[in-house]
This record gives sequence, C-alpha cells and structure tokens, in this order.
Amino acid sequence: MAHKRIYMDWNATAPLMDAVREAMIDAFAMPGNPSSVHGEGRAARALVEKARRQVAALVGANPQSVVLTSSATEAANLVLTPHWRMGRSPLSLGRLYVSAIEHPAVRLGGRFAPDRITEIPVTPRGVTDLARLETLLAEHPVEAGLPLVAVMLANNETGVVQPVAEAARLVHAKGGLIVVDAVQAVGRMAVEMDALDADFLLISAHKLGGPKGAGALIARGETLMPEPLIRGGGQEKGHRGGTENLAAIAGFGVAAELAQKDLINRNLHVTSLRDRLEAGMRAAAPDLIIHGHDVARIGNTCFFTLPGMKAETGQIAFDLEGLALSAGAACSSGKVGQSHVLTAMGQDAQMGGLRLSLGPATTQEDIDAAIAIFARIAARRRPAGQAA
Ligand code: PLP
Repeated sequence: MAHKRIYMDWNATAPLMDAVREAMIDAFAMPGNPSSVHGEGRAARALVEKARRQVAALVGANPQSVVLTSSATEAANLVLTPHWRMGRSPLSLGRLYVSAIEHPAVRLGGRFAPDRITEIPVTPRGVTDLARLETLLAEHPVEAGLPLVAVMLANNETGVVQPVAEAARLVHAKGGLIVVDAVQAVGRMAVEMDALDADFLLISAHKLGGPKGAGALIARGETLMPEPLIRGGGQEKGHRGGTENLAAIAGFGVAAELAQKDLINRNLHVTSLRDRLEAGMRAAAPDLIIHGHDVARIGNTCFFTLPGMKAETGQIAFDLEGLALSAGAACSSGKVGQSHVLTAMGQDAQMGGLRLSLGPATTQEDIDAAIAIFARIAARRRPAGQAA
C-alpha cells in the first residue's frame, strides 16, 4: 500500500486553498481587461479592486497604497532602489542596510549597487542586532542621501520574529525609511502596518494558500514612492506597468481574506502541533538543536540540526520516508546551498539545518507520523564526531 505523503514545507509554499482555486477559475472566465472602460473591463477592474481591499485589510493598510506585483521578489526589487519620487520631485537614498538573515529577494539589494549595501548582523539566536543597527545609522552620512533599511518580520528558515518596531524607531530618528518583508509573517501572526511603524511591507500570495506568482508592495502613504521597476501602460497608478494577472490577483485577495479571518485558529492549531512535534523529536534525540527555540518565533516553524547528520543527507532520508521538508536554502537549481541564516547566527553551517513548517491542513496524525520518521532517522545517525 502506498503511504500518504506528509507535506511539512509550508514556508516554501502553501497548497492552494479550494476557495482560492474557485475564485481563480471564475476570474479566468472573465473576458475584460481591467483598464477597459466597457462593462467587461469594469467587471475585471472591480475584481482587482476587491482583491486590493482584501490584501490591504490583512495588514491594516489603505487599499490605495497597495501595489500589486508578480511576487514578493518583484516587490522587493521595486522598493529597494536609490531612486525615489516625493510627489513629482526626485529624491535619492544613500545606502541600503539589510539584516544578514533576509531572504535573497531582499538581501541582494534590488537596484542598489553592491558597494552601497551594508549587512546588519544578527545575534546567535537569529535576532537582528539593534545595537549594531544604531551604530551603523549613527555613522551614516546623511549628506549622501537618507538610509533605507530592510528588516524582515519573521525569518523564513528559523521563524524567529524580528524587532521591527524598535528598528523602525531607530531608522525614523535618522530620517530614513524601513522596508519590512512580512512574507512569512502574514497569516501566522498579527501584522499591523501602523503598529510596526513600517514604511513599506512586502507580502506574497503563495505562502497564504494563494497562487504562486502574485505579491504586493504596500506603502504607508503615497507621497514617497520608488521609481517604477516596470514601466508601461500606467497600471497600478504608474508604479507597475503591465496588464493585471486577474486570476492570480483574485486568488491572492481570497487567500488574504481567509488568512485574516482565520488567523487566531490557524495560529493556535499550528503552534500546538509544532510544540508536540518538537517535544517528540527531543524525546527521540535529546541532543537535538532547535534554532531560535528560546526567542519569539512564528508558531508553524521548526528549524533544527541533528548532530551527526548533515542536512542534505537528512533531507533525502526524510523524503524517502515520505516527509517533505527543506534543508537550508533551496537554490532554484534544486541543489542544497549553505544556509546564510545559520552562518549569520554563527552556527555550524557545514552541518546545515532542516526546516519543518506546518500549515492549517497539518493534522495530529501527520505530526505523530513525522515524529516516528524522525526517531527512525535519528537512530541511524553516525555517532558524534563521525559525521559523513
Ligand atoms: N521573502 C521571504 C521571507 C520568503 O520566504 C520568500 C519566498 O520564499 C520571498 C520573500 C519571495 O517571495 P516570492 O516567492 O513571492 O517571490
């Protein structure tokens, strides 16, 4: 009998939700272009605007300040630029400061030249070092342009929640702007733009059970905006040209609305399952290292190192047992790269880490089966000091 596979890689992507699929199929059947003035066009426009309101509501933003994009990666490349406009006047930002644990979409710095990007270190627990940020900002020469700072809200590998509001206070005291990658945080913790004091948020549909290939840049206001990355027919108020991907946007809206409505239940569900999982894993391997376990984390993520087992070996072993998880940073080639997050935390990046990430559809049976698989794999490890 074929065993049911267990999917525990929700931070890579979440399965499409049924209600999202239905909304997308309906949208595929709509003939109009949202920019057309006839009835078909107006119906398509109404769908885009509904999704914009649903996405804005997820983070307590003004729908007028939501720029819909093809991904969070595109949104990052749009906002990470030295070239800005304050109304009609051009404005230059001097330097980009990025937390060392940012996703590559942000860490590579978008349109900033590499010599104008500075990394902000993190502590061994994976928390952005605010004392270092304060020093970097104190040393920043404002004559060369104000600073732009990027600090993510929840890390995709460890799940560790970052001190964004405190970072925002430091950045604003220097007159700078802060961009917050909230891709892994939305739907897993309350995200309120005002409470975070973020100037810009990045979010992605496919981590919420929405379609892959839809994201948004959400601004606090509308006065100060980056120069567009994609110029064209004036869509998204000129901030992002190109005819809107209606079905993806409609699906994004539904996924955002469901994530907002169901936030508390989803969070309680995944947190209790994750805690059960970690307790079972610890019982099977008392030497297990769970990264960031003693600081605030989103409730669905467990990032661990099993001494004596390289992450890439572990990933294959879990996959063969029917459990999908991820190891370090999965490059687009499918190869396992070294985790820059573990390196930034000063941990053994050679050994690597494995990430289990849960979602609303994860069940207790999945957890118990995962613990049993983990126990079998842990028992097969080489004794300490003999890692392959
Ligand atoms: N930021 C974080 C923290 C992520 O985890 C991801 C996706 O893996 C991204 C950005 C990129 O999102 P997208 O796939 O929409 O480009």
